[in-house]
Formats: sequence, structure tokens, C-alpha cells
Amino acid sequence: MASPSGTPWPRSAVRDDDAGALVVAGVPAPRVAAEHGTPAYVLDEGEFRARARTYVDAFGRAFEAVGTGVDVYYAGKALLTKAVARWAREEGLRVDTASGGELAIALAAGVPGAELGLHGNNKSDAELAAALDAGVGRIIVDSFGEIDRLADLAAARGVVAPVMVRVTTGVHAGGHEYISTAHEDQKFGLSVNAGPEGGDSPAVLALLRILERPSLRLLGIHSHIGSQILDAAGFAEAARTVLRLRAHLGIRTGVLVDEVDLGGGYGIAYLPQDTELDPSQVAREIAEAVAEACAELGTPLPRISIEPGRAIVGPAGITVYTVGTVKPVLVTADDGSTFTRLYVSVDGGMSDNIRTALYGAAYHAEIANRRSDAPLALVRVVGKHCESGDIVVDEVLLPGDVRPGDLLAVAATGAYGRSMASNYNLLTRPPVIGVHEGATRVLVRRETVEDLLALDVG
Ligand SMILES: *Cc1c(COP(=O)(O)O)cnc(C)c1O
Repeated sequence: MASPSGTPWPRSAVRDDDAGALVVAGVPAPRVAAEHGTPAYVLDEGEFRARARTYVDAFGRAFEAVGTGVDVYYAGKALLTKAVARWAREEGLRVDTASGGELAIALAAGVPGAELGLHGNNKSDAELAAALDAGVGRIIVDSFGEIDRLADLAAARGVVAPVMVRVTTGVHAGGHEYISTAHEDQKFGLSVNAGPEGGDSPAVLALLRILERPSLRLLGIHSHIGSQILDAAGFAEAARTVLRLRAHLGIRTGVLVDEVDLGGGYGIAYLPQDTELDPSQVAREIAEAVAEACAELGTPLPRISIEPGRAIVGPAGITVYTVGTVKPVLVTADDGSTFTRLYVSVDGGMSDNIRTALYGAAYHAEIANRRSDAPLALVRVVGKHCESGDIVVDEVLLPGDVRPGDLLAVAATGAYGRSMASNYNLLTRPPVIGVHEGATRVLVRRETVEDLLALDVG
């Protein structure tokens, strides 16, 4: 049986000496199941805090070495609960939000507005007003319409709104490669490239428009190039593009903005054979690229910010399910040969983890209540929804004696699991159970049928 202590499990994960149950932060999976039911998201507080510190330290050191500072914003969309927001803050991070709901949770957690960011390509007036009223430290604007609406809202309140502009650099990264294209076909950001007639790019026009509005204060330029990125090249390329834009604006207007945000997307290990991005190494590579580009452009270094989400919370979380049915299915391969795939159904599915169905994401699972020396079988872990694409783990080798009543743990579900969960088939969303030093604590309670009935007013 694969060791639970390597990647992609939390570093605290071990097997206990009795039955061989999976133990995370001193808490055996069967105890979580007995006390809180399944499915349950289990979040290792120590792992979250350690990862948060690692990013603050690695980027802080790398940029200090080239002569500037860094702010690390935890991207709350990966998983935001009040406890998570407090942990992030206690470890020296700020928090990025992307909706009025995320903003409300971060504020309720006690994060000061000044330490929050607000993102979104289609923020409502109510969301912008809430951000202004909370004194949010930076609003990342994403369109000309938003610039005008925000300027009007701020002017009406007699305040000055701190803004960054989200630009698209043409660099896309994710997985093992990055691509760089001139023109982007996506909803986010304003392009740094001019249209077919030439002239100023949308990004330059947006920056100029902000400088014309006294109720807006231009903090800097923002770029986010993708997710699950496993090398530094794309970040470095995007940084160079943003720094050129900054220098251009400086020459044009005399305003050299103080801040550059390079977004999130730092990749993690989902499978035992995966290697996650090394934060120290990527921080050094980005810092060197930034320093080099500023030297070439003859501009002083800006303050840098980054926005990791998945890399902080992903490996800190696992999902514990109970196995319901086990069904061997005879499958015919392309070459005409046949093999047996064991379909193992669990008590959740695409409603608690949509990433497999949505992106074809790969995950790793292990039996969590016992050890087994049974020969391995090719397993597909599926949920209980009315859809054949309801797959949690497409392919994993599990002991062939996996049976109803076993607990199954899926690794690295801390990011974009609970935060993307739905009520499909009117399943109730699982709780988030914090585990730390042998203790469990409910961070978000399980939804109940009463919650569903309360929302449906007939
Ligand atoms: C999603 C997102 C992030 C976080 O991405 P991760 O892959 O979770 O690190 C950061 N910044 C922005 C603007 C995002 O949209």
C-alpha cells in the first residue's frame, strides 16, 4: 500500500499502528467519520499555516535580495472560511476576495479592509460599494465601465478608491508549459496589445482613464496568467511585459506606479508521482526576472504582490467518503482486449468535487480505515449523482478487497472542493472539519435537509 506520508498528503499524515487507519494531524479518519459523518472535508490547520509561512518567507527573501518587498495575498476563492481567513492573517498574509460573499466572510473573520483585495470581471455596484465602505485596500478593476462606475461611487461617498488594473499579457500558463500570444480571447483583463489600427492598448487607455479621475488612486498593475503552473518561465515573461507597460506609463505621464501583482497559480502535487513547484526556486527566478527587467528599463523596482490559493490550501485538505457499492465492470480496450475496472461508489461525488468532471483533474485515493495487503485492482471512484460523468478519481490502484463500509480518502482536495461545491441532486454540502494536534473542530457545518427546505419558499 502506498505510503500516506509522501505527497500529495499533508505532511502530518501517517498510518496508525492498530488497523492502519489514515491519521491526519493526529486525528484518525474513522474518528472524523464517527463524529462528523461522511463525506467530510478535513483541513489540516498546521499544514495550511506552514504553507502560508513558506510562501511569505520564500518570496520575502527572494525579493529582499533584489531590493524590494512583497505582499502575499491568499486567494480566498480556493477556500474561504472565517477560520481560514484568520489563519492566513496570523501567518502574515492578506486576503483576496472575488465577490461580495467572499468579502463578507473575510470581514466577519476580522481581516481589516485595508488588508483585502477585491477581484472580478463583473462586480456589481453593491459589491463595489461594500468594498468602499469596508475600506478595501485594493480594488482590481477589469473594464472601462467598472472604472467609471467605481469613480462615481467613490466620488459620491467623498472617498478615494485605491485601484489596480488587471491586464492580459498574452502569457498563459498551466501544467508543464506556457504559451504566449498577442491577442487574448477571454473575459478577464485589458490587453497590453493594441488593436489592428495601432494606437494605445486597452491597458494603457484604462490606466490613463484612472489617472483622470480624482476619486481613484492608481496603485499598480495586476496580471494573473493561469493555474497549476509548474515552472517559473510564464511568471517571468508576464512580469517583463507588465514592467514594460509600467515604464511606458511612467514616460508618458510621469506616474511610475508603485505596485505590480503577479497573481497566483503556483502548482501542487495531486498524485504520488507529482512534484510540486518549489516556492523558493520560483520566487528566486521571478525576483531575478523582475530585477533584470527593471535594470534594462531604467526604472526602480516596484513592490510586488502575489496571490497563491491552491498552493496554500490544496494539500492541506482531504475528503473522507464512505464506500457504498462496489461493481466490477468488464471493459473492452481499443485493441480488443478486455479488463476489469472496479467501480467504487462513494457517498458524495461531483457536488463536492467538480474538478474531475470539469477539467479532467487527476486525484489520488486510499482506503482510510484500515490497511490491506490484497492485490491491487484498477479502480474508478464515482459518486452518487445521476450522471455517468460523476467521477471523483478517474483511475487509481486500490486493494482489491475494497468493500462497502470502507472509508476512502482523496488527497489534495483543499482547494476548489468546498468552494466549488453544489447541491446537485439536492445533496447537502459536506462540512469542513479542521484538524489540529489531535483535535477536530467544525469550521463549516454540514448542510441539512432543513437548510434546503428553508431556501425553497414554495
Ligand atoms: C484564481 C486566482 C488566483 C489563485 O489561483 P491559484 O491557482 O489557486 O493559486 C489568484 N489570483 C487571481 C486573480 C485568480 O483569479
